[in-house]
Amino acid sequence: MPTVKLAPRGAARLNDGHVWVYRSDIAAANDAPPGSLVRVTDVRGKFLGTALYSSSSQIAIRMISREEVRDLPALIAERIRAAISYRKNIVSNTDAYRVVFSEGDFLPGLIVDRYHDVLSVQILTQAMDAEPVRSAVVNTLADEFKPAGIVERVDSRIRELEQLPPRASGLIQGEKSSTVVEMNGVRFHYDGLEGQKTGAFLDQRENYAAAAQYGHGEALDVFCYQGGFALHLAAKCSSVTGVDSSRPALEMAEKNAVLNGREVEWIEANAFDLLKDYSTAKRQYDTIVLDPPAFAKTKRDLDKALRGYKELNLRALKMLRPGGVLITCSCSYHVSATDFTGVVADAARDAHKSLRVLENRSQAKDHPSLINVPESSYLKCLIVM
Ligand code: SAH
Repeated sequence: MPTVKLAPRGAARLNDGHVWVYRSDIAAANDAPPGSLVRVTDVRGKFLGTALYSSSSQIAIRMISREEVRDLPALIAERIRAAISYRKNIVSNTDAYRVVFSEGDFLPGLIVDRYHDVLSVQILTQAMDAEPVRSAVVNTLADEFKPAGIVERVDSRIRELEQLPPRASGLIQGEKSSTVVEMNGVRFHYDGLEGQKTGAFLDQRENYAAAAQYGHGEALDVFCYQGGFALHLAAKCSSVTGVDSSRPALEMAEKNAVLNGREVEWIEANAFDLLKDYSTAKRQYDTIVLDPPAFAKTKRDLDKALRGYKELNLRALKMLRPGGVLITCSCSYHVSATDFTGVVADAARDAHKSLRVLENRSQAKDHPSLINVPESSYLKCLIVM
């Protein structure tokens, strides 16, 4: 097995409990092949653990164990079974949830979502793309779930970054790629070959239930995608309007409304323009959801992202009736929970509102974050009243 030697800063990072080492913190990689399993040592040769190596990513080392690993496919199968068993205790009221969340399940570079009888797999690193590993993943999942279909969702940008040959999304086992799921008593269509990303809304599953708990009166779901929040609110609210700029997302949202026998008004619009128009027109709501896409994709975008969040939250708060509830989210990792609360606090001050924090939430428990890996915790969901 090839050995990768870490510079002191790389070794310090692992000793701090992190699982990634950047290329700049590697002292010698000794021509480790792309995607290989490597022994990791400090500069003096002291063994630090076993990792998956990427020859092209900035994250060169992703630790898979602090011990020696002889049989990677066997370890992967064991970790997948452990991820499944972890969820038996923490996931309820749904047949759609994340089964494997990369580092959060000690399987760096692998994402698996379950949508009732269809599984969706995403492979994000050279090591997970190797044939014996792929087989271990597919065989273990097929064994454990007996799904009607396993779909692979390919992110072509990531394959390029990892210098992997292009590959098409599609069924990799079975026949079925679309299905219907039910979470918190609300039903959704799932089409594994369509949509913006696998499980766009699974990380919000517990937040949907929380929003439904407080939702009342007239509701506005901004950045509604396929209607996750809107359809959860429909049971509790007198009317619900969903806004998104994506027509295909809204078409799916309407199908979901029909599936649940609900009436929701869907508006195709740029959320910034619509909120500006509606707040100028003094429209009022009792429940507003803000769940925009990640504004800060890198640290450099942080200031601009914070201004975006501030504008959205200020406009929403101005449109909130007394006693109204705002459910406001951010999925940008670079915007910390403290930053985000600060932005909402600034918006409340500017809107002359005294708000109570009902809940300070994050991603659903089937998207586990590692306490020593801050990058694995990304979703913020504040519920204020
Ligand atoms: N709340 C959704 C997920 C939202 S994802 C759920 O729970 O399922 C972010 C959504 O914002 C996407 O559907 C995307 O189409 C939409 N979007 C991105 N930019 C937008 C804009 N400027 N105006 C309106 N919608 C936008």
